[in-house]
Amino acid sequence: MKPIHIIGAGLAGSEAAWQIARRGVPAVVHEMRPVRATAVHKTAGFAELVCSNSFRSDDAQTSAIGLLHAEMRRLSSLVMGAADDHKLPAGGALAVDREGFSAAITTALEREPLIEIRREEISEPAPDWDSVIIATGPLTSKPLAETIRRLSGETALAFFDAIAPIVHRDSIDLDVAWFQSRYDKAGPGGSGANYINCPLTSEQYHGFIDALLAGEKIAFHEFETDTPYFDGCLPIEVMAERGRETLRHGPMKPFGLTDAHRPDVKPYAVVQLRQDNKLGTLFNMVGFQTKLKHAEQVRIFRTIPGLAHAEFARLGGLHRNTFLNSPKLLDETLRLKSDPRLRFAGQITGCEGYVESAAIGLLVGRFAATERLGERPSLPPPTTAHGALLGHITGGHIETIDSGARSFQPMNVNFGLFPPLRRRTARGAHKQALSARALAELDAWIGGTMPHAAE
Ligand SMILES: Cc1cc2nc3c(=O)[nH]c(=O)nc-3n(C[C@H](O)[C@H](O)[C@H](O)COP(=O)(O)OP(=O)(O)OC[C@H]3O[C@@H](n4cnc5c(N)ncnc54)[C@H](O)[C@@H]3O)c2cc1C
Repeated sequence: MKPIHIIGAGLAGSEAAWQIARRGVPAVVHEMRPVRATAVHKTAGFAELVCSNSFRSDDAQTSAIGLLHAEMRRLSSLVMGAADDHKLPAGGALAVDREGFSAAITTALEREPLIEIRREEISEPAPDWDSVIIATGPLTSKPLAETIRRLSGETALAFFDAIAPIVHRDSIDLDVAWFQSRYDKAGPGGSGANYINCPLTSEQYHGFIDALLAGEKIAFHEFETDTPYFDGCLPIEVMAERGRETLRHGPMKPFGLTDAHRPDVKPYAVVQLRQDNKLGTLFNMVGFQTKLKHAEQVRIFRTIPGLAHAEFARLGGLHRNTFLNSPKLLDETLRLKSDPRLRFAGQITGCEGYVESAAIGLLVGRFAATERLGERPSLPPPTTAHGALLGHITGGHIETIDSGARSFQPMNVNFGLFPPLRRRTARGAHKQALSARALAELDAWIGGTMPHAAE
């Protein structure tokens, strides 16, 4: 049997290789470290954690990331097994001893007879490799990034991720905020009321500007300083530094909007939130990309009227990343539509985080191995954390309502990505019900009683 080639042995590539071998299919893993370094990796080990050593909450009942852990354990994940074997005391979080974790994964792959490891940088998959998984992460080496850009027909792959915070819709106070598009314009695919608007008085606006200017910010990494900077995605605090009224004439402009609760009072400034997923459960704060520290964002953004109790699915950021416009370029099993022998896995597909990257590696490994065995890959149900994440990558975003930037941005797993429950739940029991449904449907999928075949 011809092997499946995996480029990159990070979180995603290592998990993909393991899943392939578990199905009796041979794999060749190409990892460029230590021959060629990245700007942040420090070792030659596989699945190196480049920053924090936390896999975040391990609570499968009330957190989507904890649920993803639970699902991965049921799917015999190498990454979760190594994390459990090397966990450190960290309260409700799953933190790991990074050296022990990485060494366990490296050894497991080295000892697996069906896996061959080659320490080399790949700048282009060889023409005779008929099944390839590209899992080279946010720091994909330049020659390969250039090849991917050419093969995908995209104009750019490495750029600043201008991430605006995303808020769970049910945490926005609609007794204060209201639905309306500017000048009631419907635009392509819109209804004329696609934004949630939060009004500020002059006093509230100036208080907000003061808080932005004083708030603690995160510094850029050294490797990020050579990335082109687009004027269209300036952080809000940088705009505020350019002049106290700049934001009021930019993302916070009040024009074309009438406060539905107080039509006679003209707001001095307005924060707009735009629908972010097809389900309508998540809304992003338009133009609010920021380098403020996460705790500062929560504190400052909750001073905005209507957002006092906002729950954030994602906080804002601005960092260099390499990721594909996956909803456009990849099919439902993450093959490149223009060259289906290539699959993508990990952060390069537009998920965010160690665990999410490994989970997508797990799925892609299964898809590629199933295909190699002559069968049709089966997709995880969309109600599971794996399915919700895959759905986000392949099409959960919405087409832009107006002429703004493309709406697809990398994201951590969160309950806003899950299809809503059919029945109402008791207050406080919502997340548990989503988790219980996910695990039940995952078990049915694993047991083969819920096949959900790819097209
Ligand atoms: C500075 C920084 C800090 C981060 N901090 C966190 C954090 O605290 N928590 C969190 O959850 N996530 C964090 N992330 C995100 C994190 O990188 C990803 O979540 C995760 O590591 C991505 O997994 P991956 O497998 O897609 O890529 P990686 O784990 O980066 O693995 C990619 C692998 O591909 C190799 N490679 C690259 N190009 C080639 C090539 N041409 N040929 C062969 N091999 C190649 C690399 O050497 C690497 O081993 C951070 C990212 C960065 C850049």
